[in-house]
Amino acid sequence: MLTTIIYRSHICDSVSASVLGEMVTVANNKNSRADVTGILLFNGTHFFQLLEGPEEEVTEIYRHIREDSRHYNVVELFCDRAPARRFGKLGMELFDLREYDRDEVLQIVLNKGTSRYQLMYDDRALQFFRTFVEAREKENYFEIPPGNAWEFIPDSSAVVLDASYGDNTAECRFAFQPIIDPLAREIISLEALLRTPDGDSPERYFAGLHGQAVYEADLRSKKVAFAMAAQLAPVAQSLSVNLLPMTLVEVPGAVDFLLNEIAANGLVPEQIVVEFTESEVISRLEEFTGAVRQLKAAGIRVAIDHFGAGFAGLLLLAQFQPDIIKINRALIQDVHKSGSRQAIIHAIINCCASLHISVTAVGVEQPEEWMWLESAGIIQFQGHLFARPVMGGVSAIAWPEKKTGW
Ligand code: C2E
Ligand code: MN
Repeated sequence: MLTTIIYRSHICDSVSASVLGEMVTVANNKNSRADVTGILLFNGTHFFQLLEGPEEEVTEIYRHIREDSRHYNVVELFCDRAPARRFGKLGMELFDLREYDRDEVLQIVLNKGTSRYQLMYDDRALQFFRTFVEAREKENYFEIPPGNAWEFIPDSSAVVLDASYGDNTAECRFAFQPIIDPLAREIISLEALLRTPDGDSPERYFAGLHGQAVYEADLRSKKVAFAMAAQLAPVAQSLSVNLLPMTLVEVPGAVDFLLNEIAANGLVPEQIVVEFTESEVISRLEEFTGAVRQLKAAGIRVAIDHFGAGFAGLLLLAQFQPDIIKINRALIQDVHKSGSRQAIIHAIINCCASLHISVTAVGVEQPEEWMWLESAGIIQFQGHLFARPVMGGVSAIAWPEKKTGW
């Protein structure tokens, strides 16, 4: 199937524009052998390239291009199938935008096209050309330094609770993972993550349970979470716990149970964030919204977890506005390489800014992901890059420090 990939990248300072011609000749030969055609635009700082051809060959060439050390911040903007090539005859001609008059350059680029349908403006691929040539999205090109520009240095804050913490006969345990503001070196909150007594996953904990028993166990487990968190109170001011939305609806008196347990452990509701992990459709949205109001009335903050993945979507946000939105790892992963993820995250950030909702990025593993998200305006982070969850404790936090020279 004919595949099209468009990417944008930043030329390295060490590469002089005079070697570009030679670079293009080499690429051209290689691409023609693989039956890959396209066009390469250059504006003095950024490259913008369209590659078209058989799927396997285009993917392979793009993989090589990504690894080329003469450019960096390679962001995939577009990947799709098409009935015909748009730039079928050109091999990999380099087109330097600076050599043309601003008003004409787009038309000149488009005139190089070979599509028999003519170059229609409602073609998505060609819209990307217009955006690049007219430098319309430039404010969103974050020039993040390479991942090794930062070091992540673990502090000495690790805490592990004594084995006698809480209730040893309890049917569950919790691991804790910090949510941090890396640049301010501040712990925002600790998230309590459910575990079986021998440390297995939340999924495993719920596996043997059905129907009402799931919701009851979910709620009951919070008693253990609050008891353990009370002992970790010196580490963080705030505690985040996860709940299935239907737990609040299906278990009578659920909110009162939470409030009692919070008080019994010497905590106050203002310290608590309840994260809704929506793994099933909320079938009784009215009752759920009612329970959320009860939480808010008591002073508890509310987060929508896994935002952008599966059910936890825009409708839920329209129905009630949480204090916090947590963007799921599925969207965070490789955000620095993906134009579509970047556009979606920009939209989430803008929407949350209008609604005064704070945004947390979850599952951050790579320095480049974190740098991109910081540049986009996110302040709160959770992920293995900084700290992994630790059963009955909190790991040391690896705070970022910029290496000299960057
Ligand atoms: P979550 O609320 O999004 O919690 C974060 C999950 O991502 C945790 O998995 C954590 O270990 C994992 N994680 C954190 N940083 C990274 C990272 O950098 N990379 C990767 N790959 N993973 C990372 P965990 O503990 O297995 O929990 C999975 C989910 O189970 C939670 O996702 C939450 O939705 C649910 N859960 C946890 N505790 C409870 C609970 O008490 N009640 C209910 N109903 N659900 C819970
Ligand atoms: Mn969560």
